[in-house]
Amino acid sequence: MEKFADRLTRMSFSQTFVMSNRVREMKAAGHNVISLTLGEPDFDVPKDIKAAAFEAINQNFSHYSPVPGFLDLREAVCEKLQRDNHLTYLPTQICVSNGAKQAILNVLAALLNDGDEVILPAPYWVSYHEMVKMMGGKSVFIETSIDTDFKMTAAQLEAAITPRTKILLYSSPCNPSGSFYSYEELEKIADVVARYPQITIISDEIYEYINYDGKHTSIAEFPQVYEQTAVINGMSKAFAMTGWRIGYSACPTWLAKACEKIQGQMTSGANTVAQKASVKALKTDPATYKYMIERFKSRRDLVYGLMKEIPGFKVNYPEAAFYFFPDISYYLGKTLNGTLINDADDFAMFLLENAYVGSVGGVSFGSPNCIRFSYAASEQDLTEAMTRIKNCLQTIDVQ
Ligand code: PMP
Ligand code: GLU
Repeated sequence: MEKFADRLTRMSFSQTFVMSNRVREMKAAGHNVISLTLGEPDFDVPKDIKAAAFEAINQNFSHYSPVPGFLDLREAVCEKLQRDNHLTYLPTQICVSNGAKQAILNVLAALLNDGDEVILPAPYWVSYHEMVKMMGGKSVFIETSIDTDFKMTAAQLEAAITPRTKILLYSSPCNPSGSFYSYEELEKIADVVARYPQITIISDEIYEYINYDGKHTSIAEFPQVYEQTAVINGMSKAFAMTGWRIGYSACPTWLAKACEKIQGQMTSGANTVAQKASVKALKTDPATYKYMIERFKSRRDLVYGLMKEIPGFKVNYPEAAFYFFPDISYYLGKTLNGTLINDADDFAMFLLENAYVGSVGGVSFGSPNCIRFSYAASEQDLTEAMTRIKNCLQTIDVQ
């Protein structure tokens, strides 16, 4: 007999993993599928970072670390925040976690009472809404569309605020849209939030380096909201270290202490070897790893050229992260080769089964008109995937 808590019943499986697992099953069944599902760099961890991990093993960093992370790593995080973001933090304000995912969850767990509202500009990263539900909160969505580059305005934000609003949570650069907020846009958002001291901003900046414009702004740079902001970042995207599971938060001291309290009862300090390797990564000049960003940029241009030619796709020109999030509403409500397409998830499934290309439907990102493609894949796979989709959609029966 299944006896689940309400908490579990309200949640869904992560759609990114659902689709990547489906691709894996199809591959195992012998189908030649190209997966553009999961967002993770396809590069190897850079050699100098690996060498630091080997050294940590040989030096027997095999015991528990302090819950919020080794001091040298927290110092390296502070140096990085100063160097790249002009942000001043003390090591006591940093909590190193098992990925940025846990860093976000710590903050939500620390702040949310049942029924508290969290504002999520849509599209949002899949896990945000699920994490809010897990912690008993209520998501309040702000709708955006491809026509506004998937970005909320300060006026939309202000209209969504109620006496129960506790948190504003967004990613910039954004997964899934590939947009990012400019300095001027963030300043306006900061001005709004500063008028509501009960609100904490969770600013997820994990795609900071994958920004082709090169002008990343952290909202914590605005003094009016510095004390109201939790900055989230991590090693997964910038250093291709997704499996090493290191992320971190930088918060006001009271909130950092709360994250430590929660993490100390949940998982303890993050993996020690990966922490030591992260010190190396963060202390190295970011230009050393720029070759990955350059490759992402040229892939972005490659895919943009090809995707524009696909019938029924309305394509944005993403300036950051490594995703395309085309609007496919042309196909909604239509029957493709006898299959009714109600929403973007149906369309993503149709492409998987008919073009053998894996993507993630936009429903769980809060945008049921769009689908997400990760372009962190080889040029060959990207070209083949776009060609397959174009050929498929050109030859099917659309009613
Ligand atoms: N935030 C965003 C926007 C993401 O896309 C991801 C995906 N990995 C994460 C947080 C979590 O990253 P990780 O836990 O691997 O550090
Ligand atoms: N963040 C990546 C994505 O959006 C990895 C999967 C996940 O953590 O959900 O695809």
